Amino acid sequence: MQERPLHLDTDCVHAGEDDLGTGAPLTPIVQGSTFGFASTAEMEEIVAGRMRGNLYTRYGYNPTIRALEAKLEALEGSSHALAFSSGMAALSATFLAHGRGGIVCVGDAYGGTMELLGEQLPLLDIETHLLLGSELHERLPGLLASGVSMVFLETPTNPQVEVFDIEWIARQAHVHGALAVVDNTFASPVNQRPLDLGADLVVHSATKYLGGHSDLTAGAVMGPHELLLPIWNWRKNLGQAPSPETAALLARSIRTLPVRVRQQTASAELVARALEQVPGVERVLYPGLASHPQHELARRQMLGFGAMVTIEVAGGRAGCAAAADRLQLFTMAPSL
Ligand code: PLP
Repeated sequence: MQERPLHLDTDCVHAGEDDLGTGAPLTPIVQGSTFGFASTAEMEEIVAGRMRGNLYTRYGYNPTIRALEAKLEALEGSSHALAFSSGMAALSATFLAHGRGGIVCVGDAYGGTMELLGEQLPLLDIETHLLLGSELHERLPGLLASGVSMVFLETPTNPQVEVFDIEWIARQAHVHGALAVVDNTFASPVNQRPLDLGADLVVHSATKYLGGHSDLTAGAVMGPHELLLPIWNWRKNLGQAPSPETAALLARSIRTLPVRVRQQTASAELVARALEQVPGVERVLYPGLASHPQHELARRQMLGFGAMVTIEVAGGRAGCAAAADRLQLFTMAPSL
């Protein structure tokens, strides 16, 4: 298993927090929707993106949003990051910016992502191909040869926690000039570093581990400036930047991300092992179990196995509902 970068814990606390120059050991909320310029020359430089400065909060050119983005960059070890009002906002801007030549989605993915890819993007004449994990090796090379512009994947996937080889998929994509984009929500940056494995862009639903307290909705995309620029343009004109209040709350939450995710990962391993012994549980899907079909790949690729565990319960839908209704500590709610 790979080593977690030591600086991650430090960066989660400190990255971006000096950027406002207030001296406050937190990310202050600057609520302004707009910002004034010293001169028309300065305005022209900032509007053209040649000079860094505050401009208009919908553009993301707001000090609180920028401070959050410095933290998001540090999380995935990327040179740049964009913050969004939700994970779906981050995904849709990324697909619109880079997926118009066609998108291959590998394996299962969050339901909203599947709906966007399977039903809505085709309405805009964007070709999308939803591959089963079992079809990957057979179908991906042909689809790439046909000229699609993006391979998108979650790993581990939602909900079946299937694990895919990021390095191999990114290599295949690059041979044909396509981008490899990874939704790293399930693993979190604490347990997996897709950019180090060759991915071009990483997307997050920050509503999940990055936020961590079920009190905010946000998203993020990390990667190099030249790939983020077209995504920034879609974010700007679709109005998808987060509010400064949400940005500050997310920056606050990220401070504790490594501590939370490490503990959640350790707890999930224990729960997964215990569930294997529970009568009525037919199958436990967790990348850290030797019984997981891609356990060896997960050992190589991940820094920790994550905190999501999927189970299959005897008795079909009724058995599943009965088991869910007997849970005492879990909240039956749509999030991680
Ligand atoms: N990606 C994954 C893996 C998710 O699980 C979700 C939401 O559950 C999303 C993206 C969408 O994120 P949001 O609800 O923040 O829009």
